[in-house]
Amino acid sequence: MKTKGRKKDKVNIVTLGCSKNIVDSEVMLTQLRGNKIDTTHEASSDDANIIIVNTCGFIDNAKQESIDTILRYADAKQEGLIDKLYVSGCLSQRYKDDLEQEIPQVDAFFGTMELPLLLKKFKANYKQELVGERILTTSNHYAYVKISEGCDRPCSFCAIPLMRGKHVSKPIEQIVLEAKNLAKNGTKELLLIAQDSTYYGLDIYGKRNLAELLKNLSDVEGIEWIRLHYAFPTGFPLDVLDVMAERDNICNYLDMPLQHGSTSVLKAMRRGTTREKQEELIQTIRQKVPGIALRTTLIAGYPGETEADFEEMVGFVERSRFERLGIFTYSHEENTHAHNFTDDVPETVKQQRANTVMDIQEKISFDINQEKIGGTFKTLIDRAEGGKFIGRTEFDSPEVDNEVIIESPDNHLRLGDFVNVKVNDATEFDLYGEVAKEL
Ligand code: SF4
Repeated sequence: MKTKGRKKDKVNIVTLGCSKNIVDSEVMLTQLRGNKIDTTHEASSDDANIIIVNTCGFIDNAKQESIDTILRYADAKQEGLIDKLYVSGCLSQRYKDDLEQEIPQVDAFFGTMELPLLLKKFKANYKQELVGERILTTSNHYAYVKISEGCDRPCSFCAIPLMRGKHVSKPIEQIVLEAKNLAKNGTKELLLIAQDSTYYGLDIYGKRNLAELLKNLSDVEGIEWIRLHYAFPTGFPLDVLDVMAERDNICNYLDMPLQHGSTSVLKAMRRGTTREKQEELIQTIRQKVPGIALRTTLIAGYPGETEADFEEMVGFVERSRFERLGIFTYSHEENTHAHNFTDDVPETVKQQRANTVMDIQEKISFDINQEKIGGTFKTLIDRAEGGKFIGRTEFDSPEVDNEVIIESPDNHLRLGDFVNVKVNDATEFDLYGEVAKEL
């Protein structure tokens, strides 16, 4: 039964969660359109009669957002505004049975690896010939590239392996083909993502092969920036730093979630490392790639975290002077190893500790940005806003890091352009400047 007066189905994909989910939605979009199914992504217009919600199941807040989104469309279906509602992604993978009970308005739930099954609902087949092709939902000039799926790490607090399975690397040839296709379509920046990017290759090449992958991607014509995300500290392949230092189109940027800065908490988290080893690695990274921007993510309020543990983390953050840092409050996730312990740090204390770390980071980020005043930086233009242009330097990843606000009175810049920007002011998280010279 089609909604009133509707001749043809139209699908709207709604993506929640991380960049890996964005890639999954883009692959879904490409396959549906490849099967001649009218499909859009995050369309604000409500002219779609079939909704696919690609969910996140990582931690409490993300799960709540996913459930609220599903319920919103379940109501729309109840009111006859849409005909079909499908749910995919991590929350669906993790809680399929419960969700089927609780939200019967949903026509079907799919796991994280069940795109072919979802396509069947549209009498469509998974088109192998489209592998390596991708319709982007981000701006065309940058694209996330997933180099592997799943994770073999035992981090005690993490539910991701429950939703994404074991680590599976994509062959270098396949990733290079994807990069070439993206470059052909105008993409200039590749953001390499995975659950653990430094584990790359161990399964299919029997060795950590991220450095080799980086070299191959760096040779792809048209790619001006390659950015590395989700590195893991333990067993970090140092040859990656040599390639980063030698290749101009690999950003001096590294995202490496460290999760904590106290050795006893790192042990409890089963991270396989210590504060001391993390500090050593940071030093090595800064020596091998001078001027690198280090991004990290931490967790406050892990079960058993004492005031002393927290003070140790504060000291670690102050000494490491990360260029970019985010912190979450611990979320007690069932079926994880940490769920066997008592979630004994009160929510208020978790939040206080997270705020304390962010206050320290704000000062560090302010000081680091002050040092950039007077400097000129290659900047990628992402968007125009309020008569100004907004861009990023090689030290900034989209959505999560600093931005450069650029005065360009004669408005001649284009999105996706690289320009040199002379910085004349800076705040905690943004730089301000004017175009020095077009590149
Ligand atoms: S490496 Fe990341 S994805 Fe893997 S278990 Fe640890 S925190 Fe989770």
